[in-house]
Amino acid sequence: MSGLFQDDPPPTDDLPTPPQDGPGLFGDAAPAATSGATSGPTGASAPAIGLGATPYRVLARKYRPTRFDDLIGQEAMVRTLRNAFAVGRVAHAFMLTGVRGVGKTTTARIIARALNCVGPDGAGGPTADPCGVCENCVAILADRHPDVLEMDAASRTGVDDVREIIEATRFRPMQARTKVFVVDEVHMLSRAAFNALLKTLEEPPPHVKFVFATTELRKVPITVLSRCQRFDLRRVRIAELAQHFARIAGQEQVTIEPAALDLIARAADGSVRDGLSLLDQAIAQAEGSVTGAQVADMLGLADRDAVFDLLEAVMAGKPAAALAVTDRAYERGADLGTLLQDLLELLHTITRLKSVPDLRRGAELPEAERTRGADLADRLSIPVLGRAWQMLLKGVAEVETAPDRRAAAEMVLIRLCHVADMPTPGDLVKRLTAGGAPAQAAPGGGQAGGGSQAGGSQAGGSQGGGSQGSGVQGSGVQGGGGSGGHAGFPGGTGGAATAMAGSAALALPAAELAPAAPRLATFRDVAMLVKERREAMLHAHLVHSVHVVRFAPPVIELRPEPDAPRDLAPKLGALLTEVTGQRWTIALSTAAGEPTLAAQGSAADAQRRQDAADHPLVRAILDTFPGARIETVHDAQVDDYGLPAHIGSDMSLVETPLGEPDMPDFAPPDADFADEMEPDA
Ligand SMILES: [Zn+2]
Repeated sequence: MSGLFQDDPPPTDDLPTPPQDGPGLFGDAAPAATSGATSGPTGASAPAIGLGATPYRVLARKYRPTRFDDLIGQEAMVRTLRNAFAVGRVAHAFMLTGVRGVGKTTTARIIARALNCVGPDGAGGPTADPCGVCENCVAILADRHPDVLEMDAASRTGVDDVREIIEATRFRPMQARTKVFVVDEVHMLSRAAFNALLKTLEEPPPHVKFVFATTELRKVPITVLSRCQRFDLRRVRIAELAQHFARIAGQEQVTIEPAALDLIARAADGSVRDGLSLLDQAIAQAEGSVTGAQVADMLGLADRDAVFDLLEAVMAGKPAAALAVTDRAYERGADLGTLLQDLLELLHTITRLKSVPDLRRGAELPEAERTRGADLADRLSIPVLGRAWQMLLKGVAEVETAPDRRAAAEMVLIRLCHVADMPTPGDLVKRLTAGGAPAQAAPGGGQAGGGSQAGGSQAGGSQGGGSQGSGVQGSGVQGGGGSGGHAGFPGGTGGAATAMAGSAALALPAAELAPAAPRLATFRDVAMLVKERREAMLHAHLVHSVHVVRFAPPVIELRPEPDAPRDLAPKLGALLTEVTGQRWTIALSTAAGEPTLAAQGSAADAQRRQDAADHPLVRAILDTFPGARIETVHDAQVDDYGLPAHIGSDMSLVETPLGEPDMPDFAPPDADFADEMEPDA
């Protein structure tokens, strides 16, 4: 008989017999059933689920603030709310805005409690410090108060949903003092729903309050906004988040490295809730204490030290060291695109450190940034940091579209290593214009040397007066243009002068400057005058629709294009006569005449581009920075019509020449070097 329970299934058992051989169809389920049977009635090895002391609560829920003072990083809002409760002037509608997870709905619930708390003795009024123990407080805390109604507008956007709310506002609260309607993501409501809501907002019943929350304030109609007291919940700072998480880890009796806290706070991007979810994960995955390396793995990040190592390698121009860092990061599962973004962020931090030295002393930045970061900030110049930033910015975008993210990221880093020890375009220009040695680091330095020489001679012979800068751009590199004197060097007959804004061109003695000349020496002067008189239409026609056949003041012979207005000639004649006090004759001609001013301007522009490309300095820059290209050619000497200034014009004055070319060292990749003055038409 003893063998009965051992060998055979119990006869009273209704369950189907597990197959005797093999795992059977439900191989996993069978052992669980039998293990429960064989372990006996003590339940010692029964699954822990359901039998544990308390079910696990996620940290974000467990540590959800229940009082205003528990809210992290929202001091300004809390102060205002406290004041309002103190003087008994609480708005009837609130609009809480801010990124996800900063505490909008949490605030809404605290407001609901503050409005409805009756205190432990049941006799209290609205208070900024709800007791947490009265019937109302407890019910609201537990999310089951009949008069505090939450609605997620993301899922209920229609006018009917809003009507339901409006209907509910007609009734007195069942148990509380005030009915509180919390509408989350209120911007998702339809226009009709907003309109329906508006009527109630205009004249809310005294026992009703609204608390709206939104991540996208711009989508909330102004009519609704204007009827709410608005609070902008700000992103919580990294340092504040890290402290908060450290406190919670302490309460949870978890050891966690400061580096780990910092990574979590960083990744949380201002959101307490997101950060706590990450902390949850980190604690769940940790064996023993939570380390920075483990959190970095979890987040798919390279740890902070690796980012610093990488930046140091890149800035020292050491590709092998840089790739060693990426190899390690890749092996640990970090995404190299994210690594580049981290690098970009670190560059920004270092640039800030350089610009705001006080940051080194504050508690705003984590320890590593204040020490290693400050050290890098001391060693790197702003132009170098700026150039690296631009190249990385471009690189990050490249990685996003590349078929192989790792390869793309490594290419970006190698490129950075090679550029790191190169002179900035500003340095290059200074060396070349000073006639000094060309950039030694530049491949194709021979050409750069030629440039130095040619640049000098051209500048010397620059009666053309072109002070011309070239925006050279590529790989995020901007070689800025010289902005020299404005106009009017003698002997300048136009032609797109390619002279650098070098010292030679600018050093022309003032004595050589042209004496004041007759005002209207060319047709361009006439056009300019018309523009100054704000005759925009007439000006546009003079630029685009008129061919000058003969210019002999006070006589002008023109051939208008067919689209020119018929009164163009009399209008121009009257204007010139009025302005100059001299009688002008504008005659129409059928001769071909000159190209229009507009056509001359674009031809000159094309020529300038060509000349810029041929310029030795520009060639040197193009050779030095692979992938660079000429974006715009900016010539400070050309006039409104894109044409070189000419003798005899006093329309533009010569400015004091600058001592050296004003070279922007870098500019955003999309920087637009548009001429300050475009022809109106
Ligand atoms: Zn209470």
